[in-house]
Amino acid sequence: MSLNEYLQLADAIHKNVINNVAFMSAGQIESQMIELEKYIRKIQSVSLRILHIYQSCKRATLTYKNISDNYDPYPDNDEWTQTYKERQIIRPIKDAPQINANILESPEDVPNMTISWIRSLNQFAFRLNGVLFRGNIGEILHKHDMKSAARIYTCKKPQCKNYLNGRCKKYHDPLLYSGSTDIRNFINSSWIYTRDPPKKGNLMMRHFGDRNDLMHKIRIINNPSMVNMFMGQVIHDILVALVLDATKKESERGD
Ligand SMILES: [Zn+2]
Repeated sequence: MSLNEYLQLADAIHKNVINNVAFMSAGQIESQMIELEKYIRKIQSVSLRILHIYQSCKRATLTYKNISDNYDPYPDNDEWTQTYKERQIIRPIKDAPQINANILESPEDVPNMTISWIRSLNQFAFRLNGVLFRGNIGEILHKHDMKSAARIYTCKKPQCKNYLNGRCKKYHDPLLYSGSTDIRNFINSSWIYTRDPPKKGNLMMRHFGDRNDLMHKIRIINNPSMVNMFMGQVIHDILVALVLDATKKESERGD
């Protein structure tokens, strides 16, 4: 069977499962998954065989000719699923920098990306288009809690001595402060969007996001800690969305 035929079979199984999952028995779904696994193994065995040929060729050429040793048979991590897909540069809005995207025909074709847990940092993380997002679900504090609020502002002391004993109330990124178990918190106003330029009273509000003035805001605001807070909110929101979705699925299953 050709690789293309395997792809067609896998596509057919994909369509069948996506469209009929509600009507299929657990056994039927399992047999489809086993079938997919079989295709993966078949292709892997071809891949392994080609790898052995590659290594043999390399050994032979290295012995007889002084050719470059820079060949690498493995694609980069993010290329495994994209070798047969078209990539294009898309501008999400006018004037914005270009973003590299896969061009697909339907939502079922979107590759699944899993979230990671970084044990040493006590943080969730994912990498999207080369950008690393890290964080947790933090507390959302109201204005009247502000006196006792902690871990909202990032600690900027290069060597804060009080991050382990809790005497410094700021947030210490565990990547920069080893052993820190801080979880970044937020003020509820951080989700309120303001069109005004940054000024006293709106610094903790949201300044980036509206398609009509996103690029204008980016040009006038050069504040890394605002960007930092935004990135923290993004992973916080994504984790909340995953919890919401998992809860919904649990209640549908009747757990
Ligand atoms: Zn500190």
